[in-house]
This record gives sequence, structure tokens and C-alpha cells, in this order.
Amino acid sequence: MVNRKRTANKTIKKSKKPIVGKNSIEAKTNDTKKEINLATPIIVKNFAEAANKKPSEVIKALMGLNILASINQTIDVATAEKLCGSYGLSLKLEEAVKKEPRAEKTIQSTIPKEIIKDKPEDLVERPPIVTFLGHVDHGKTSIQDAIRKTNIVKGESGGITQHTGASVIKFNGKDIVFIDTPGHEAFTSMRARGANVTDIAILVVAADDGFMPQTVEAMNHAKAANVPIIVAINKIDLASADPDKVILHMQQNNLMSEDWGGEVGTVKVSATTGEGLDNLLERITLEAELLELKANPKRSATGVVLEAELETGMGATANIMVLNGTLNLGDVILADAYYGKVKALIDSHGKRVKSVGPSFPVKVVGLSGVPTAGAPLTVCKTEKEASAIAKQVGNDTRSEVLAKSSITSLEELFSSIEDKKRNDLNIILKTDVQGTAEAIKESLAKLPSDKIKVKVIHSAVGSVSDNDILLASASKAIIVGFHVKINNGVNDSAKRENVEIRLYSIIYELIEDITDALEGRLDPEQREKQLGKARILKIFSVSKGPKICGCLVEEGTIKTGCKTRVFRNNEIIYNGTLQSLRRFQDDVKEVKTSQECGIRLDNFLDFQEEDIIQVYEIEFKKAKLVN
Ligand code: GDP
Repeated sequence: MVNRKRTANKTIKKSKKPIVGKNSIEAKTNDTKKEINLATPIIVKNFAEAANKKPSEVIKALMGLNILASINQTIDVATAEKLCGSYGLSLKLEEAVKKEPRAEKTIQSTIPKEIIKDKPEDLVERPPIVTFLGHVDHGKTSIQDAIRKTNIVKGESGGITQHTGASVIKFNGKDIVFIDTPGHEAFTSMRARGANVTDIAILVVAADDGFMPQTVEAMNHAKAANVPIIVAINKIDLASADPDKVILHMQQNNLMSEDWGGEVGTVKVSATTGEGLDNLLERITLEAELLELKANPKRSATGVVLEAELETGMGATANIMVLNGTLNLGDVILADAYYGKVKALIDSHGKRVKSVGPSFPVKVVGLSGVPTAGAPLTVCKTEKEASAIAKQVGNDTRSEVLAKSSITSLEELFSSIEDKKRNDLNIILKTDVQGTAEAIKESLAKLPSDKIKVKVIHSAVGSVSDNDILLASASKAIIVGFHVKINNGVNDSAKRENVEIRLYSIIYELIEDITDALEGRLDPEQREKQLGKARILKIFSVSKGPKICGCLVEEGTIKTGCKTRVFRNNEIIYNGTLQSLRRFQDDVKEVKTSQECGIRLDNFLDFQEEDIIQVYEIEFKKAKLVN
């Protein structure tokens, strides 16, 4: 195996001269061998350029070394050195250029310093942000629901309650904010990204069960985060309830209850009867007062993404928590590699608002893509500045993924050498929401793995982009999209790089197709049957619900529920299902050649006039994965 840690040997000399860019290349001839000058990480393409070889030649030579690498993949120094040897070259290694500061740091540097230093007179009290932790089934969700039902701000509704990732409760005239996702997994994954959102943790312990393994785990997570804990002893309505047992367990776990002379707030509650819930809220308010939570609403906002998704009709939306400052409509925001002007702010009551102050959750519309949960959110001065930082963040992320993928394929290479019978299928998964990605990954993991191993090497929310093609080409992966579309021009890159993209709108079809693709490797037998073709003549916006496209059926029959593709300039941009079909005012099951009709596709709104909608079926004979 190639030793990745090895950085230098006799043929590699460290140069003292600093170089300007990453992988900056300089070739010069010394007395004996021609010397090429490369910075780490060494990318195949750059190596080829420096060595004055065709990339395909280098890739072939790598195969000779039992290394499968594509043009954008990295190779380690020892491998580069071996290649140099075979080309009669010597490798001069430059120290990698110091990486650009990470996203968070870059983002911090965009915030004007005078605003970061809050003047004491600008600081005002802010609501506490509370997370519920504890063992499964001990009542975290029930307590939150029960409190929400009675304490949600009344008279402010004016719209449907909007899911913003957190809820705002009013108690004795004061706001309290609950993070909607209970459990320490979400809490800790946020923390792992540097987002300490929670001010107070409520450790829910069922009075009949007492401390359970997950209670201890949750308690430790809260302790590690240095967040004050209030213990809510729940289910006190049960005959088997034994609150003293819980207090004893607290003591055994070094959590000294105030009931027994310690400092940890302990409140007995019942989510079912509502008993004690006001005491719990009172205790939270008291704890918040002790913490003296303050923020400066006068500065530009900083926050954190709680969750984000692509929403029909709205594009990328992010549920964020403003941690400091005030976020206003029209502000230029940046999260991960995405940015944009805030087009709409929707509060947890579904009301459109113009601004949001510290400690409040809000749904933000206007980002150019879907950031990950836990991503810091910041306000930039101009879109130009935001775009520059977003690009830098994107580059950093991509090169990290690429560097990672080279290890993955090396490992896979070796495992496939050891196990010649098994094929691997690498998948890049793009979905509309994160939850779907998890569900798909679970389903894929259940596929029979004795002959073929399916591996999701990267998954993200959003449409299929050039970066995905790059990664797919680098790691010999196929791209699977679920409820997403392909960005403009990406089909061209896919063709160029010989990358397969498969788009789906129903999970089981995806799984079935992937299985078939796997089986196809063993015995490819599948046939596509064309049913009909329609051309979009006009797009109709209707006041309620998604847009409908008015079409003329040019060939065959268009049927509801069938598999459907949308083509633009002969390029497939969407694959899904035909959701509904209308002729005049009526819903119909099918429409024949030369007739006009209205078509609605599931989860696709990006129609344009002259797009072609193709309806088809797939017939296949299956080979079995398991004999
Ligand atoms: P979580 O997994 O911690 O979010 O727990 P849930 O809120 O889903 O509650 C688990 C179960 O306990 C549900 O069946 C609830 O109805 C029940 N439960 C929750 N709180 C109480 C309570 O105060 N009393 C009783 N008797 N049952 C409760």
C-alpha cells in the first residue's frame, strides 16, 4: 500500500522558495533530470501538466501502479515520485500554500470590527434558547407540545403555524425559545460545527423509569457544552411514578438537585395532565435571568442554520436562529457556500416580518443554495463580497471532498483486489431535503451486498451541479438525484466526463432502479417503452397551488402516474412522475395525440415554453443479486 504519510525521500527536495498558488507548477531543467515543481495535494491533472504528459497517459501509468485515479483526483507524494521516476523526471515538492482560513474565520473577518465590540448600552435582554434532552420515550416531545398548545403567542397568528426549526413561547410576558428537534444528536451535531445555540438544557427523566443510558449520555453532552441543566421529572401522573428515585439517580450522576441542597433546578411535571409545566417555565425564566442573556439588536445579524431545504415555489429556504444582531429584509446573507439577498422572512407563526432580533427563529428565503444544519450565518456588506467568500468556501469544501475521495478509492481498490468477486458502486446522492438522504442511505444499505457494495460517497441537498460531476468523475461514481433538477450546462459536463446521472421522485423506484443497475452490471436487460410526447406551449400560474403547463400532445398518449422526463434543448433536466392531467376544466387519466392538455409534474415547477415532456415505462427482466 502506498504510504500517504511519507512526504519526502532522496529524490524530493523541499524548496525554500514560496509559491503563489495551490498546485502552482513550474518546470525547469537541471543538469541531469528535468525537475517538476508541485505543491501538495498533487492533483493528477496538474501532475500531467507539469510533466508535459496527457492526463490519460498519467492515468494509465497510475493503473500500472494499481492505482485507479481520475483527472481531478489527488495522488500522494510517493506515487508522484514513482511516476516521475518512470518519466525520467525529478520531483521538487513545495510546501502547500497555507490554506485560506476556514469558512467561519473568513466569515468573521467580514464583520466590521467596531460592530463586533458591542457597547454596553446597546445590549438588551434576549430570550433563552432551550433544548430538550433525555432518554427516548421519557416525554421530550410531549412536554414541548403541551407547553406549545397552551403558551403559544395568541393573537399573533394571522397565518398557519410555520415550521421554523424552533418555537417561541410566551410566559409571564417573556419569550422563551424551544429548539424543535429534541435529543442530543441534533444538539451535538450543531456543536460539532461550532454552533453553541442552546442556553439551557432540559433533561427530561420519566418518573417511573429514572435515569436510563441515554439520560446519562444526554446529561454528559449538556455538561460538555457547559450548558446549565434543569431536570424535568416527567410522568408524575403515573401510579408507578417515583420522583425520589430520579433525584437519587441525579445524585449518583453528580447532578445535585436543589431539592437535596444542590443547585440543579428540578421540576416535577406531567405532559399528560399539564401539572407543573408552569413551574418548569418559571424555572427556565429564572435560570435565564441568572445567565443574564444579552444581545445587541443594533448590529448586523449573526446566526446559525437549524435546517434547510428546497421548497416548491420558494427555492432554497433556511430555518435559522438569529444569535445576535437584527436580520432585515434585503440584507445580504452568507451560509456555507451560499449567499443571497433576504427576500422574505417568515416567523414561527407563518407571518411575514421585516426584521428579526436576537434569539428568534425565522425562515429565510433568498439563499442561492441549501446550507447544512449548523452552518454559521452572517451578513455581508455587498453581494460581491458574499459571492467571493462563498466561492472560496465552495473551493475549500470541494478540495476537502476530493482529497477524501482519493483515500476512499484507494481503500476500495485494495478491497476489490482482495475480493475480486465483488463490484463496488459509488453513489453521489443529491436530494431536496436532508431527511430524504438519510432514508435513501438506509434503504441502499439494505441492498444485498455479497456481490456488490453500494457506497454513498457524498450526499447533499440541492440540484445536480458541476461540482457533483467533478466528484463523480474523480471517484468513478454515478449521481443519483431525488426530487432535484440538473443545473444548466451540467448535462454537457456529465457527457464530457462520462458520468451517469439518474433522477428520481419516488424512493422505491430509486431503490428498484439502483438494484436493477447493479443487476444490470451482471446481466443488463432492460427496455424503455415510449408512451407519448408533449410540447409545452404556455405556462399558467394559478392563484392556489403550483403552476400548470399547457401542452400539445405531439406523439402517442400522455397518462397520469407515468414516468416522465422533461427535455430542454434535447437535454434532460428532470425525471419524475406525471402528477395530474387536465383537459379543459376536468381531471383526466390520459390525453391522445393532437389534443391540448394541462400537465402538472410532481415537485417540478421550472417549466419553460417549448420544453418537451416525455412519458415512458420501463420493462426489464431481472438478474438476481443473490443466487
Ligand atoms: P420522547 O421520545 O422523549 O419525545 O417521548 P414522547 O413525548 O414521544 O412520549 C413517549 C410516550 O410517553 C408517549 O406515549 C406519551 O404519550 C407518553 N407520555 C409523555 N409524557 C407523559 C406524561 O406526563 N404522562 C404519561 N402518563 N405519559 C406520558
